[in-house]
Amino acid sequence: MFQSLKETDSQTYNFIQQEQRRQREELQMIPSENYASRAVLAPLSTVLCNKYSEGYPGRRYYRGNKIIDGLEELTIDRVKKLFSSEYANVQPLSGTQANIAVYLAFLKPGDKILSMELSAGGHFSHGYAINFTGQFYQLASYGVNRGTEQLDYDEIQKIAEREQPKLIIAGASAYPRIIDFSRFAQIARSVKAFLMADIAHIAGLVAAGEHPSPVPMADVVTLTTHKTLRGPRGGVILASRKYARQLDKAVFPGGVQGGPHNHVHAAKAVCFKEAAFSQFKDYARQIIKNSQQLAADLLEKNYRLVSGGTDNHLLLIDLRNKGIDGCEASLALEKAGIIVNKNMIPFDPGTPKRPSGIRLGTPALTTRGMKEKDMEQIVGWFNEVLENIQNEKRLTQIKNEIKKYAEKFPLPGV
Ligand code: PLP
Repeated sequence: MFQSLKETDSQTYNFIQQEQRRQREELQMIPSENYASRAVLAPLSTVLCNKYSEGYPGRRYYRGNKIIDGLEELTIDRVKKLFSSEYANVQPLSGTQANIAVYLAFLKPGDKILSMELSAGGHFSHGYAINFTGQFYQLASYGVNRGTEQLDYDEIQKIAEREQPKLIIAGASAYPRIIDFSRFAQIARSVKAFLMADIAHIAGLVAAGEHPSPVPMADVVTLTTHKTLRGPRGGVILASRKYARQLDKAVFPGGVQGGPHNHVHAAKAVCFKEAAFSQFKDYARQIIKNSQQLAADLLEKNYRLVSGGTDNHLLLIDLRNKGIDGCEASLALEKAGIIVNKNMIPFDPGTPKRPSGIRLGTPALTTRGMKEKDMEQIVGWFNEVLENIQNEKRLTQIKNEIKKYAEKFPLPGV
């Protein structure tokens, strides 16, 4: 397959080769990224991408879909079993599209959404001015407590009573602590709002039983398959059977996508099978062990962690005591082969372009087989980079040291 690509289009082939090398030689510490297995990658370059199958199994707009129906049913059955859900829609092309479908299913224009502030760790698809949700719906938000930097459920209850939202969203992109979905469900019930749990980040931890599941108590759950769940890029919606019709209609034809990506469904099916293996539970546990070790090593080197630590796959560092911002830090780290992202922290005096923090996580490193002792080594380099951000020579030396180290941990999909 790659030989034919090389012969037909050497430019595209070269980009793929370069990206493969980059992923192998650097430390990927963006918490929303991972490495899909070879088995997950395999269906993505198959004839499944040739077929149109608008609609759902047994009710398609095109003929020739008997096999595709079977595949989509298999994918749905596996994800329902994995998360103990009565209903699943596996067609959303991304987490954002899954979220949009939920809004279309449950809300009318002008209805109010209550979600987490962006600077406290929320996601732009949860109703922000820069997103279409900010134009179609009214927005209210909750943050974290100034003292603990964690969710303050009594405060969220008060905000919900004051704002009377139609939909409450629980879930985040940059929150390092356990989310109490039962408490969110109580709050939602008390104000007669729908509860949507967005577990895009923590889906793998939930599937493995390493984070409490929102499925029994939320009205609807959205997730992405490419983060801790380690599958192909894509989204999923889970819910109770009573919402099946309205959610299916909202994804297609009511929503923002047409024909399903059948090759991605197949890769999702493989991902759900892999996530049900006992090795995946070990993997999820190791993600958290690594992230807690990373936190301990960073604290020892006088880094301030938002909320003081982590319960999950990610941590947020407040860099203000180091005299640098998240933008400078992430650029210097990239020069040395450590890939993280700049991030706002709660009550950030900085701006989204120059925030005070960086966000990092362990799902990808853990997939490569790294353990606690590797975290200690990485924090050593990390600290040296941030103490030498102007020293290009030392950054290049570290990049070479990291390259050598990373080569010992092969990428699974290559
Ligand atoms: N929801 C949350 C909480 C996220 O963190 C993200 C992405 O990072 C998404 C939704 C959107 O996922 P996608 O990039 O697949 O649209």
